[in-house]
Amino acid sequence: MRIGIDLGGTKIEGVVLDDEGHELLRKRITTPQAEGYRAILNAVAQLVEQLEAGAGRRCSVGIGTPGAISTVTGCMKNSNTVCLNGQPLLEDLQSLLNRPLRIANDANCFALSEALDGAGKGYGVVFGVIMGTGVGGGVVFNGQLHAGRQHIGGEWGHNILERDGPDCYCGHRGCVETLISGPGLAADFHRSGGGAALAAGDVVALAAQGDALAEAAMQRFFDRFGRALAMVVNILDPDAIVLGGGLSNVQRLYSEGRERLAHYVFNDEFITPVLKNVHGDSSGVRGAAQLWRPHEIDRIG
Ligand SMILES: [Zn+2]
Repeated sequence: MRIGIDLGGTKIEGVVLDDEGHELLRKRITTPQAEGYRAILNAVAQLVEQLEAGAGRRCSVGIGTPGAISTVTGCMKNSNTVCLNGQPLLEDLQSLLNRPLRIANDANCFALSEALDGAGKGYGVVFGVIMGTGVGGGVVFNGQLHAGRQHIGGEWGHNILERDGPDCYCGHRGCVETLISGPGLAADFHRSGGGAALAAGDVVALAAQGDALAEAAMQRFFDRFGRALAMVVNILDPDAIVLGGGLSNVQRLYSEGRERLAHYVFNDEFITPVLKNVHGDSSGVRGAAQLWRPHEIDRIG
């Protein structure tokens, strides 16, 4: 059996999956972020112990979390749970739990989950896209996650799309994430004269009601989605693209968004499916558990 842990800034969620990927147990606790790094380590270890007690046997453990382990220092980087940054999270958890662990970026866990038994099942090369608070992605080749030499495989959210675009926290301007994330869409609507307090969902709803400003923002959103994703498709040419995150619920992305993508891809007969995720918010924990394949479990000792 396999335990997956989704280590987020506000909650830590865990599941136990059996060999077929069926979910046997699920538990969720609050991330003790205010209490610091050691408290988070202990919370993860306790959650694993509780899940393992419920499963009644020793399990493999995979962790999904924002950010990545630096291949240079072995420490966490780019996490929005900032007290994890610079810490040897993997090493510390391995010694606390006394077994080898695997850890991956949450977008990579999403991509893996959807490729193995979600919307991307049966496709050879799957590009998993997260469009929510941020924009991320992950690449899976024939059921194998491609984390990349620097663990940034699939990070299309920080490709620069518009040089004079909004400032990004990464230090550049006009990154994909600043334009087609939820906050990016809302901010674009505001810049064009729309209401400041509105969220992305409100802009989508206003456009559906015929609001001209909101509709113009949606058209820019689809065009940017198409341009940004075409850069990925021209290099990777995946067999399927699976969308996740809050904005994956925008139905027009699968029609008008896909049409803009087809327009920008270097191919006049674009056939790549753009699919909605199957597992929704569960993809993070499921993909974390699936960092271990059933036949590998005997290697955890
Ligand atoms: Zn950026």
